[in-house]
Amino acid sequence: MTKHYLMVGAGLSGAVIGRMLAEAGHRVTVADARPHVAGNCHTTRDEATGVMVHVYGPHIFHTDDAEVWDYVNRFETFLPYKNRVKTTSQGAVYSLPVNLHTINQFFGQTLRPDEARAFLEGKADTSITDPQTFEEQALRFVGPELYEAFFKGYTLKQWGCSPTELPASILKRLPVRFNYDDNYFFHKFQGMPENGYTAMVERILDHPGISVKLNTTVGRDEAADYDHVFYSGPIDGWFGYELGRLGYRTLDFERFDYQGDYQGCAVMNYGDVGVPYTRITEHKHFAPWENHDGSVLYREFSRECGSEDIPYYPIRLVAEKAMLADYVALAEAESNVTFVGRLGTYRYLDMDVTIREALDCGRRCLATLDTGDRMPAFTVDPL
Ligand SMILES: Cc1cc2nc3c(=O)[nH]c(=O)nc-3n(C[C@H](O)[C@H](O)[C@H](O)COP(=O)(O)OP(=O)(O)OC[C@H]3O[C@@H](n4cnc5c(N)ncnc54)[C@H](O)[C@@H]3O)c2cc1C
Repeated sequence: MTKHYLMVGAGLSGAVIGRMLAEAGHRVTVADARPHVAGNCHTTRDEATGVMVHVYGPHIFHTDDAEVWDYVNRFETFLPYKNRVKTTSQGAVYSLPVNLHTINQFFGQTLRPDEARAFLEGKADTSITDPQTFEEQALRFVGPELYEAFFKGYTLKQWGCSPTELPASILKRLPVRFNYDDNYFFHKFQGMPENGYTAMVERILDHPGISVKLNTTVGRDEAADYDHVFYSGPIDGWFGYELGRLGYRTLDFERFDYQGDYQGCAVMNYGDVGVPYTRITEHKHFAPWENHDGSVLYREFSRECGSEDIPYYPIRLVAEKAMLADYVALAEAESNVTFVGRLGTYRYLDMDVTIREALDCGRRCLATLDTGDRMPAFTVDPL
């Protein structure tokens, strides 16, 4: 029997689940409060310069998941792109993630890998046996100099609190490479959509079974009109924030234009606390196959998310997780809503993980139609 599904949110989560259900013969309505599809991955071509702009911050596609890679390539051509990030710190420019070049340049050395490893072991604070905080973990891994230059200021600006207040778990592994590999990601498949992410999502949504409603905010009272709802908005928002607001960091992007090449790379981080922004992105370098004389840049500032701001990064410390657990209990009592995506489950998710979870969620929904089981509130555990 044909069902009518509602996707709240036309980002990757809503689009991928909606497409799967439409291809299985069901009716799908996709609603988004914004005037465009693609959620936070939205890209648009700047009229004045022709540059493809990543409106809600830079998005680089990287994955080891072959099914997800095939999926995105079905709807858009991905061209090769490797993210090579630089950082300006203490008056010099270095390569990130911290690698052999960074170490040799920073300490004025010519160390080979094994020598660099031994050198850093000599810097590490071995008196810290059981690191509890981000700062202790970093000092134990890399010692005070690299910590000050590359981790402390950036982390402080990004999270708005001292690294002594953040858990050690944020820095799980030694954040250093003992070779000259400066490719930011390790993943097998890496690339950029030739025509931007919005063109890709428009194609995912281009199916006769799908109708898209933009500028449309959906509330909880509308859920009863559909057989089932997939909600990719903020979980606390669905319940009118009745238990309080989950903490997020938001970003302010200060755009400026430049004639020519402003910084010679796509992403330049700023590690010093005295510089108020965390990074500058020069969007035309995300499409190295294009040529533009003009340039569009974003200075990126991170701050606490207020009620009118766009929630970007979930904080997920102890207090937030306790509140999340209470919202999860409310969500599980809903009868026909599944909470999906980065906001619905209050987790930071890369695009490939979002698509993987959306594919699995769509399949689970189709399977429940055969088995008669109820579709759960979550198809991944948000806690
Ligand atoms: C700054 C930043 C940089 C990132 N960079 C990368 C990167 O380089 N590589 C990578 O793989 N991933 C990156 N990501 C992650 C990527 O943005 C997410 O994986 C992706 O956006 C998640 O898609 P989604 O559909 O779950 O959520 P979203 O894209 O947030 O979509 C949710 C949509 O729901 C809509 N909505 C919410 N509530 C309602 C409502 N009540 N009614 C109607 N509509 C509603 C919103 O308007 C939004 O459009 C980045 C994220 C951030 C924040």
